[in-house]
Amino acid sequence: MYSCQKQRTIQTKWLIGVSSRAIYLFLIKIRKKTVLVLSDVQSEKQSYLSFYFRVVIDISRNIIEGNSTNALLTTKFCTRCNDGEIIYHRGYSGEYLCRSCFLFSIEDKAKRCINKYSMLNYQDKVAVAVSGGKDSLSLLYLLNKIYGNRDYLTITAVTIDEGIPGYRDEGLKIAKDFCSEIGVENQVLKFSDTFGVEMEEVLSKRPSEKISSCSFCGTFRRRAIDLVSESIGASIIATGHNLDDQLQTFFINLLSGDVDRIGWIYPEPVEYGKNNIKKIKPLVEIYEQELVFYALQRGIPFQSEECPHSNESIRTDLRNFLNTLEIDRPGIKYNAYNSAVKISKSLKMDTSKSQTRRKCLVCNRDSSSPICSVCKNLKLLSDDKPDKNNN
Ligand code: SF4
Ligand code: ZN
Ligand code: ZN
Repeated sequence: MYSCQKQRTIQTKWLIGVSSRAIYLFLIKIRKKTVLVLSDVQSEKQSYLSFYFRVVIDISRNIIEGNSTNALLTTKFCTRCNDGEIIYHRGYSGEYLCRSCFLFSIEDKAKRCINKYSMLNYQDKVAVAVSGGKDSLSLLYLLNKIYGNRDYLTITAVTIDEGIPGYRDEGLKIAKDFCSEIGVENQVLKFSDTFGVEMEEVLSKRPSEKISSCSFCGTFRRRAIDLVSESIGASIIATGHNLDDQLQTFFINLLSGDVDRIGWIYPEPVEYGKNNIKKIKPLVEIYEQELVFYALQRGIPFQSEECPHSNESIRTDLRNFLNTLEIDRPGIKYNAYNSAVKISKSLKMDTSKSQTRRKCLVCNRDSSSPICSVCKNLKLLSDDKPDKNNN
């Protein structure tokens, strides 16, 4: 149990923790509203809390556990500038950071990643895929802050409306409002206008519930982002994938035996499609929980509601598993990510030697197999899909 005196030393503008080790009680300031959250972290999986709140809890636990080792008592000031008041403990590096050093570190990580993998070039037209979540809006904010005033690069936000009732509307509104606040154009494309179906209909038409919502949604959304980006003449599609996303994708591909796809994780952009667009992920070297904290500190509004279908994917189990490992072994995700990048680099070199670009026989777009996954999924949803009892 930590004393109130010690707790006061970790108060921040955003987050106040009052706790024993087992029960955490938080007052969190979100979009100028104070929200009270009570969580039993020992039974986190059964908790009613959304993932968003769990991440905030992890952040504050980092700070609180720093307190438990008396580090804050001896480290009064930021370990970078030796001046500012500490607001964040970065477990994997051991640093205690003030607000400005924390914000600088996140923006610097993104800039270094962009330069390391040559993600952007002179006169690029960048389509930023924005969902209304913390990662994509932080990415948009960050790119606009760094490149928004440069006349050699243009930025447009592109948003996909999958048609998920009770979930997507909030994200669409947040994205639209935020874009108008920072003066970035926002283009929206609906699944229904592109594929003739919304997610609601996809779920009722799918041949088996064993095929997860995300396997349809993710495939269609990637194609929709390509289409809207092509329509505005973009040369780059930027997405807000973070280190945790990349690591989960690595393990999903490993566990499903899809070795070729591991090569796709390597962050160096590759041209594809008829317009030779490149996809970039400038946030891949940043932990998810740090992006939540960045968005909160910058006052970036974001959707806190989780998609109702997110638990259908193995991704959620992997996310919980990796976060549990990270709590006791800070930096384990960072090490695993670096290993995944090295493996994906050698796999990418192998597959690029042996593979020539193929076209889907149905839609004539780039595909690694004769029929692309979008056309396969549309076939599964169509009325003339193969009869399961008569094949
Ligand atoms: Fe789509 Fe799955 Fe993401 Fe929901 S969690 S928006 S269904 S990919
Ligand atoms: Zn500092
Ligand atoms: Zn196709």
